[in-house]
Amino acid sequence: MIPSDQNKYLKCLEEALYEVEKYLESSEDAAAAVEPDKGLGRLSRMEAMQDQQLVMEMRRRKKRQLAEIKVAISRIEMGTYGKCIFCSRDIAPERLEVAPEVQTCIICS
Ligand SMILES: [Zn+2]
Repeated sequence: MIPSDQNKYLKCLEEALYEVEKYLESSEDAAAAVEPDKGLGRLSRMEAMQDQQLVMEMRRRKKRQLAEIKVAISRIEMGTYGKCIFCSRDIAPERLEVAPEVQTCIICS
């Protein structure tokens, strides 16, 4: 991969890293357990718990993404970025455009 492309993806990855970290920070409270004595009615308490479930699921996904982004950044540093970790073929640029943290080609994914 040419250096200017690598820089472009590195910038995308750093931005994504920032966004994900910001999300994880801001959603911390929403993911905390719904307190039983919060003074909510029965229905709104159920809603609050459903919301909490959604936030927790989203956080799980974001945490996985965060780990992938970090790996991708270290692969840029090692010079192996953009190659499939299974077959070491180049990953299609269109794929990296959508998700710069992907580490597998379309065939191996
Ligand atoms: Zn592959």
